[in-house]
Amino acid sequence: MGVRLSERSMKRLVGVHPRLVALAREAVALSPVDFMITEGLRTRERQRALIRAGASRTKHSRHLTGHAIDVAAMVDGQVRWDWPLYPRIAAAFKAAAVRQGTAIVWGGDWPTLRDGPHFELDRAVFP
Ligand SMILES: [Zn+2]
Repeated sequence: MGVRLSERSMKRLVGVHPRLVALAREAVALSPVDFMITEGLRTRERQRALIRAGASRTKHSRHLTGHAIDVAAMVDGQVRWDWPLYPRIAAAFKAAAVRQGTAIVWGGDWPTLRDGPHFELDRAVFP
């Protein structure tokens, strides 16, 4: 169980909305599955590269404005992409969101093209 975010994860949160940073910090303490932050704020150049590679579809990614982060599950110090780990991390984010009164959206709840590692501040509250 992760108690706090690594220094590397904290560096990747530079430029991310402080409410989302606060959520990630609490979520890592609550989550039964440790995780690291793989991406926060994204440049337009990188977004274009991701679209070209087929890894993203939108030019309006919430990563461009610091309203989204991606995480990677860690088991015994190794990154794991097994789907069942991600709802457990999401439950920790959602619990932290309730406690902090911050509206978030988990990419794993999207009806199409589920994105388990992705969390963003709710557009309705944080445009
Ligand atoms: Zn993302």
